[in-house]
Amino acid sequence: MFKKVHLRLTLIFTAVCSLILMIMSALYLYLSYQNTKTNIYQSFQSDIETILTNIEGSTAVSDSWLSKLESDGKYKIYIYDHEIPFTFVKNTKSEQDMKLVTDIREHYFANYQLTGENSYVPYYIEFDYTANSKNYLVGIGIIPRNEGNLELFVIYPQTKFHAQMNRLYLQFASIVFGTIILIWIFSWYFTKRLLKPIEESQIKQAQFISSASHELRTPVATILSALGAMDKGNEEEKKEFSQIAKKEGERLTILVNDMLSLARSDNHTFTITKKVSEPDTLLLDSYEAFLALCHEKNLSLNISLPDSTVLPRKMDPLRIKQVLSILISNAISYTNPGGSIHLSFYETPKDIVFSICDNGIGISDENKPYIFDRFYRADSSRNKKEHFGLGLCIAKEIVDAHKGTITVTDTPGGGSTFLLILPK
Ligand code: ADP
Repeated sequence: MFKKVHLRLTLIFTAVCSLILMIMSALYLYLSYQNTKTNIYQSFQSDIETILTNIEGSTAVSDSWLSKLESDGKYKIYIYDHEIPFTFVKNTKSEQDMKLVTDIREHYFANYQLTGENSYVPYYIEFDYTANSKNYLVGIGIIPRNEGNLELFVIYPQTKFHAQMNRLYLQFASIVFGTIILIWIFSWYFTKRLLKPIEESQIKQAQFISSASHELRTPVATILSALGAMDKGNEEEKKEFSQIAKKEGERLTILVNDMLSLARSDNHTFTITKKVSEPDTLLLDSYEAFLALCHEKNLSLNISLPDSTVLPRKMDPLRIKQVLSILISNAISYTNPGGSIHLSFYETPKDIVFSICDNGIGISDENKPYIFDRFYRADSSRNKKEHFGLGLCIAKEIVDAHKGTITVTDTPGGGSTFLLILPK
């Protein structure tokens, strides 16, 4: 599913970026075409004006001056005197050139010069002319002279300009094409990175559901078999099976509550209500709550608190107590009878620290990075029935909500030491 989404996102991203790129390029090319054309027109106009002024100001037009005007290959110049082409024109122009200028002349007289009473001769005119799919810029000047006219035709073939524009289009097309490929590569990696956390969270969710259903199956199966056995058993057996079902039901409640806490944290509906609380009192309360259990399990539980008064801090006392319970309950579960658990509280310049230190079985270095993961149990062979591998991960969520940290280190001589660190 993610592959499809990845491909689709890459496509959409590339398509949108490419479209924008193409629109921008087209706009740029259009403006550049218009600007170049305007420049050509303006320079053409001013060139013709200069030529006309020169012709008007001189009595004779020399061949050398005309050939000088044509020397840069930009324009072709034709002059007719009393409708007869100059010798210069006859000598320097090909048959094809002559055909073109004759056509242009006809076009000019047909379209621009009026005949009859209202006839007039425009002093100067310029227009676009197309012949054999080639575009020309044509400037025509009529200079009245000795009862006749001098006709000046300046023809500028726009082939160079079009070739230049075509080269520009081609360059742009290859740049746009290359950029689209780069955008594709970039968006492929970008969307991949974008989707990675979503993919990971989906995998985690699937793992969570599978682990949760696996954990739920055992107590449900035990309850069902206990209920089934109750039907056939005698009074004493019925009592025993009812006890088993009750115990499993309680286990089930703990598991469901744990899962609910995690689901709330995932949905961001998990909230903490901070109140001014005395942290040392919270630890003392937890100590007292577990004293009896430790005694029952032949474990020594002791506490050390600072001699000086501890200032109250803002925190969610119930949630912090829950974290302390998880840590102390783990210490009890993973410490062999005869062992000891030490609780302490101290302050650093920036933090307040709760320490839960046991001399139990400890946690290997390979397992340490995973113990805060959901349903993770360091050693499945030593799984305890009341432990689902959710305690530390719930503890971490609560500590994260307080912007604190929770760490684990080895207790010198064996066992584990958990530190719950909250910023002041
Ligand atoms: P569980 O409900 O299994 O205790 P936790 O999330 O609380 O789940 O702990 C995860 C795992 O970390 C435990 O299964 C256990 O292997 C290990 N662990 C936690 N606390 C201790 C401890 N004090 N000593 C040794 N191992 C511990």
